[in-house]
Amino acid sequence: MREGIHPEYHECKVVCNCGNEFTTGSTKESIHVEVCSKCHPFYTGQQRAASARGAIDKFNRRYGIKQD
Ligand SMILES: [Zn+2]
Repeated sequence: MREGIHPEYHECKVVCNCGNEFTTGSTKESIHVEVCSKCHPFYTGQQRAASARGAIDKFNRRYGIKQD
């Protein structure tokens, strides 16, 4: 077994575009990511779907008033 062939593994600071910071194990000292678990498209997509539902509700209400 030779020494020095394995990269050093230590705690790594991850900074996301959304401003969220967390640490993980990595061979790098710091990582900058564009998405994390807090701003992942899955979550933001759900938020967008919720606001889209609100827009449809508003449209249906307006349309319902027109029908009266
Ligand atoms: Zn993020």
